[in-house]
Amino acid sequence: MLRKQHEYRWEGVDLLRYKEQDDTFRDVTRQVLFRNAPDIPCEWRYFEVAPGGWSTLEHHEHTHWVVIFRGRGEALLGDEVVAVAAGDAVEIPAWTWHQFRANQGEELGFFCLVNSVRDKVTLPREEDRARFLANPKIRKFLEADNGEE
Ligand code: MN
Repeated sequence: MLRKQHEYRWEGVDLLRYKEQDDTFRDVTRQVLFRNAPDIPCEWRYFEVAPGGWSTLEHHEHTHWVVIFRGRGEALLGDEVVAVAAGDAVEIPAWTWHQFRANQGEELGFFCLVNSVRDKVTLPREEDRARFLANPKIRKFLEADNGEE
């Protein structure tokens, strides 16, 4: 299936697959606008989740600074499910579970700043999943996965 292109593109910036080799997400694109100035050892990326899509549910040691740029959706942040919309700024501290979902009928586009040197992401284990599902609000948030993979 070829899903429609989005118009939030920058000149000379490639539209990349969100992640190269896993199926933990759905309909997410990645663009890297800036990378590694000598005095800013960071990457400034723009991600866009198409309506109905989601990013990987993960955690890791490195911090994200996220600014929502387009549309609306919801995010899992630790034990909370929060509504997010254009203009909101979100800090994701070390080892905080996070996932973004475009589950409000619109694209969800956001800038995400990370250090260029960072650890690999960790995915939930069986016991983490069980803990998420025991929380009704998180279960509802994750339920969109059901039957769609
Ligand atoms: Mn992350």
